[in-house]
Amino acid sequence: MSDKYLQEELDRLEASGNYRRLVPAEHFGCEVETGGRRMLNLSSNDYLGLASDLELRREFLDSLHPEDFRMGSSSSRSLSGEFPVCGLVERKLAQMFGKEAALVFNSGYHMNLGILPAIAGKDTLIVADKLVHASIIDGIRLSGASFSRFRHNNMEHLGNILEREHAGYRQIIIVVESVYSMDGDMADLKSICGFKRRYGNVSVYVDEAHAFGVYGPSGTGLAAALGCAADIDYLCGTFGKALGSVGGFVACSGVVREFLINRMRPFIYSTALPPLNWMWTGFLLEKLPDMDSRREHLACISAMLRKAVSDAGYPMPSDSHIVPVLIGDTVETVRKAAALRAKGFFALPVRPPTVPEGSSRLRFSLTADMTEDAVSSLIKALEDEM
Ligand SMILES: *Cc1c(COP(=O)(O)O)cnc(C)c1O
Repeated sequence: MSDKYLQEELDRLEASGNYRRLVPAEHFGCEVETGGRRMLNLSSNDYLGLASDLELRREFLDSLHPEDFRMGSSSSRSLSGEFPVCGLVERKLAQMFGKEAALVFNSGYHMNLGILPAIAGKDTLIVADKLVHASIIDGIRLSGASFSRFRHNNMEHLGNILEREHAGYRQIIIVVESVYSMDGDMADLKSICGFKRRYGNVSVYVDEAHAFGVYGPSGTGLAAALGCAADIDYLCGTFGKALGSVGGFVACSGVVREFLINRMRPFIYSTALPPLNWMWTGFLLEKLPDMDSRREHLACISAMLRKAVSDAGYPMPSDSHIVPVLIGDTVETVRKAAALRAKGFFALPVRPPTVPEGSSRLRFSLTADMTEDAVSSLIKALEDEM
């Protein structure tokens, strides 16, 4: 009976072109092989090419001893899952961001789902950008806080909300991303931090999921690049994207760290990441400052692709390595993605509900291990298809 109900829902998804399928794939550097075809992988968040770098993996493996090879931590960190490497990685992160402390979570999803309900209650207003990630929305919902959204990147709208509401709440938390995952555009972090200085009860929460590793000195993100990391109370990111590992983190004050250890449910009630994974993360964090040439190459091929798409007449909101081709119609988007796959370019179409109705798109995410030639052939294939 329940299956019948669910199947009807699935049929509706299929009919509207929004059905999701898991496609088995094998990975070879920046290429992916699926359905017997090898393609340039334009759907990966391995922005620096670290996850697919075999040399790095060899070097890491060579540094290990059998006792390091622990693939499970066997409890949450508040029980006995706290290994020495946890403190090492968190102190390293705090130092990189110039913060008192840092705390690592099992994923970026846990991070957003857990921090907001821990720090926000009924006397809190959360003001978030209209386009924040699903994990942030879920965290806000769980928090029970009052919630208001401002139009995407619209500082005037944000300012109006703060002016109208600031006296009515004990605290207001502004929540934004630094680089947005669907348009590839960037938040005006300087203005946002300016609001914090104007009102005494405002704090700032920034999710650097797509910027950590890619922007800023030593890859510390957009806030650091803009010189406003010190003004951000909750400077968050994930290891799952540019860093080529897994986990989420917040760089924060010592008080925030202690508070989260005591109050954040996904932190308290979930088994810690395996020590081996912490070691891989620590290994890569040490390498991050040496990755400038990868960051520069990524910036160069990204500018190339953005210009080509824009020259072809599509709106180009992006300033980053995430490059959308805003087609609009879902069926047409799915068709173009299939045509590109046939030519050796793996980019999945992005459709509602991931993006607003009527804004279906191809979304290319570029990685530093792609050559200029590979991006030129993508541009050529796009021109033939558009
Ligand atoms: C990917 C992403 C997350 C989730 O991070 P994971 O480590 O993959 O769970 C959170 N926030 C944003 C903005 C993201 O893009």
